[in-house]
Amino acid sequence: MAKRSKAKTIGELKASGYQPVPIRGEMRRNLIAMIKKRKKIFPGIIGYDDTVIPQLENAIISGQDIIFLGERGQAKSRIMRLLINLLDKEIPIIKGCEINDNPFAPICKRCRDKVAEKGDATEIAWLPREERYGEKLATPDIAITDLIGDVDPIKVAEGRYLSDELTIHYGLIPRTNRGIFCINELPDLTERLQVGLFNLMEESDIQIRGYRIRLPLDVFLVASANPEDYTSRGRIITPLKDRYGSQIRTHYPTTIEDEISIVEMERRQFSGDEFECYVPPYMEEIIAEITQLARKVPDINQRSGVSVRVSIANYETILSNAIRRAVTLGEKWAVPRISDLPYIRASTSGKIELETFDETRDDKVIDDLIRKAALNVFNRYYKIHKLEDIVEQFSGGFSVEVSATMSAKQYVRNVKEMIGLADVVNVVNDSERPEALASAVEFILEGLHVNKRLNKAKIEGKTVYRR
Ligand SMILES: [Zn+2]
Repeated sequence: MAKRSKAKTIGELKASGYQPVPIRGEMRRNLIAMIKKRKKIFPGIIGYDDTVIPQLENAIISGQDIIFLGERGQAKSRIMRLLINLLDKEIPIIKGCEINDNPFAPICKRCRDKVAEKGDATEIAWLPREERYGEKLATPDIAITDLIGDVDPIKVAEGRYLSDELTIHYGLIPRTNRGIFCINELPDLTERLQVGLFNLMEESDIQIRGYRIRLPLDVFLVASANPEDYTSRGRIITPLKDRYGSQIRTHYPTTIEDEISIVEMERRQFSGDEFECYVPPYMEEIIAEITQLARKVPDINQRSGVSVRVSIANYETILSNAIRRAVTLGEKWAVPRISDLPYIRASTSGKIELETFDETRDDKVIDDLIRKAALNVFNRYYKIHKLEDIVEQFSGGFSVEVSATMSAKQYVRNVKEMIGLADVVNVVNDSERPEALASAVEFILEGLHVNKRLNKAKIEGKTVYRR
């Protein structure tokens, strides 16, 4: 790109041939250009390629305002922030304007006066796209003054003309003029404010403290809401609901693979550790499966949802428990295993809402999920009837002890003792590390247990598998 010095005045801007475009046109043009170049438009958004993203692109190409409907933790905020990518790198505004006025068509009184006085010599500034985004979480205590603006009673008392915008303190939305403004949890706005918002969107005018003020803003409005709040009667005024051109339903990852990809991308990572970490695929799958099962369990409040954050936190927890073990036992590799799973009670219970208020049920619900997840994942890898040779060896009093604090070497002994176990382990483990082998052995023992082939008993802090 040729480097040209940027225009500093309205006159220079005119001379450069620059043509300002309304926000919807700008986003549409840039989106189409990105589609054409096959550029990734929403980087880091996983699992929405065939659902949310095409609808979102259609809305932008149509120039429609958008409302995202979805439970918490469905990347709604992240997508909204990524809309910035569809804006020009920077746009010219009249220098010092509170509402980012278009140099060729200012709407605020201050800028109109300035342009009338200075003409082409009026100074302009360039606003980067990152500064053209605003968002607000709707709460019942937000007032018109926060979102739209307030009139200054002192200036009104001084005898200024009542609709003279010089008396206005602009709120968040006018300050995002020529940008994107997002309202999270739209149904929590008071009805009065919803009416105000509707008037602003539809009529370009607003009422502040009884004064009617014309304010032809150019804002791309995006909102989010929980679907139940949105559809429940009276939570959103009908004209405002009609005004949103596109309602886009977000969702949780539909596949285990997507759930795992998000976890791997989002989990907290540290550097400089002296041990190394390895999470076997089946353990990742169990973590993802637990969350996916939780999204279907009637004991859990599905209205508040079960976010991917549950998977992320649980993944971090089992890995941390493996790290504690590695450090305690002086092992090189931290590899999570089945006996680490009970620790996810701590990272799960705060993030789900049970339908009943009984604390002991918390753990039971989570333990059930762990068991079912282990069963589902195990049965994807193994046909249980092909493992009868292993089960048979437990007849006659043979048993295997495992625990979250037991060293990997003790597990390796089991593999050597049991005929055929090494082959079974190889299905899920191709690593030579004893820590990985230990994890695989426990996965198989647990798989036999959840398939009702082995009993499992807790004895003095250890788990014993036997017939
Ligand atoms: Zn202005």
